[in-house]
Amino acid sequence: VYPEELNEYSYKVLVVGDVGGGKTSIIQRFVYNSFSRQYKATIGVDFALKVMNLDENTVVRLQLWDIAGQERFGNMTRIYYKQAVGAFVVFDISRSDSFEGAKKWKADIDSKVVLPNKDPIPIVLLANKVDLLNSEVPSEELEKFCQEMGFVTWFATSAKENTNIEEAMKYLLEKIISFE
Ligand code: GDP
Ligand code: MG
Repeated sequence: VYPEELNEYSYKVLVVGDVGGGKTSIIQRFVYNSFSRQYKATIGVDFALKVMNLDENTVVRLQLWDIAGQERFGNMTRIYYKQAVGAFVVFDISRSDSFEGAKKWKADIDSKVVLPNKDPIPIVLLANKVDLLNSEVPSEELEKFCQEMGFVTWFATSAKENTNIEEAMKYLLEKIISFE
């Protein structure tokens, strides 16, 4: 491969959602392929970097910003969101009340960050802890919620069992690249 054929991208992607939904676990699974039962609250913001070879000519430096769940109630998110080009909103699908939080996070992002061309940034909804769900995934409800709220799509994920994490990351990356 000649150097001029190599495409390199560097992207800042937000991972937000209410406390305990699994943001940190999803990032740990994706970046380090590990999972911990232990709960350690993120304070402020954590960062993780994953370098991905999308294909032999394309390298992506994905910077994941793990923003603490309580931050939506402060004014710091405006600063954290700066120059983000995509986001995941994570919620715990095994808890019935958690849709509400996802709605608020989506609105928070939309009101504080846009792409350079002023379009909204692509946001993927992650219905996490699907391994704990006793019933079927409420696909129709999720689909409807996504459309109403303007998420680009949704995935039912499990950081514990490594379900759909890679797929969700790839999906968002391809969306982001298609906007270049
Ligand atoms: P955060 O506050 O959104 O960063 O959530 P954490 O990643 O810290 O996760 C909160 C708790 O949920 C921890 O005890 C995790 O081990 C657990 N957890 C996270 N993801 C999953 C999952 O997919 N399945 C199950 N069963 N537990 C999970
Ligand atoms: Mg966390």
